[in-house]
Amino acid sequence: MEDIKVPNLGQAASAACSMATNFLAPVKTERQIYENSMLEDDPNANSVIPTSQEDRTVPRWGPNHKGAQELANLYSTGKRTQECICVGICITLIAVNSIFVLIKLRLENLSSIAIAALCGIITADFGSGLVHWAADTWGSVELPILGKNFLRPFREHHIDPTSITRHDFIETNGDNFMVAIPVLSKLTWDFLTLSEMEMQQRFVWTCYWFLLAIFVAMTNQIHKWSHTYFGLPGWVIWLQELRIILPRKHHRVHHVAPHETYFCITTGWLNWPLEKLQFWYILEVIIEWSTGCKPRADDLKWAQKRS
Ligand SMILES: [Zn+2]
Ligand SMILES: [Zn+2]
Repeated sequence: MEDIKVPNLGQAASAACSMATNFLAPVKTERQIYENSMLEDDPNANSVIPTSQEDRTVPRWGPNHKGAQELANLYSTGKRTQECICVGICITLIAVNSIFVLIKLRLENLSSIAIAALCGIITADFGSGLVHWAADTWGSVELPILGKNFLRPFREHHIDPTSITRHDFIETNGDNFMVAIPVLSKLTWDFLTLSEMEMQQRFVWTCYWFLLAIFVAMTNQIHKWSHTYFGLPGWVIWLQELRIILPRKHHRVHHVAPHETYFCITTGWLNWPLEKLQFWYILEVIIEWSTGCKPRADDLKWAQKRS
């Protein structure tokens, strides 16, 4: 009896160990990162592992990639106008709502307000992942209106991740500011029309929606910082190191081809749990099974336009 128990225990322990090792293993290994993503912290490419002759003559990533150049040229004046309008409206609404929040704030509710704000930030992280996943994985640049205006930047970003660092404030933030406008408008409307008592009753929810809107609006700026390896202000690096905003090394995991994980780009807090739950993979299997569409077909098409 003793003889049987010992090997069984040993097997169980080693199975538990290997499960724990698999569970805690990095989502992408250092080698996968080096071989399948563009190294943005090394502008001279000194650390690049030698690749094929084709990779050297027709780049797989960067501003000289033919597909990236074609996508960059699709940025139109009409699109720029939409972005300018959205940035103007959104900044005004954030300023107005901030004043209202400060006026209505009651210090005795501070703990529930802090929890609501935290939930708002987590929701923004999840929302960033969902929108980023949907835009990366489905649809095509050829789609009317949506393709050229809203999917194009996602395709460009995978084959030239550094392009975002050359975009100005308007191009970086226009679309995210647009998404935040309806929520911020509703909050301003509530502040202007509701009674003091009604406002106090829903103030915790107001803080949730306000923080959600601010983090949604800031997401692509935070994303841009996660690609900026040179000249970043000290306070941004500090926020990245504290993991309050998306850290640079963390976001690099998303940029390993075929770009199938780590879609959350606000704080990145949800990336690891969603990866362990295989959340994106399961969604893709369900959608592919029900529609017949292949995930990332358009993304792959653009990645292959190298010459
Ligand atoms: Zn992406
Ligand atoms: Zn990125």
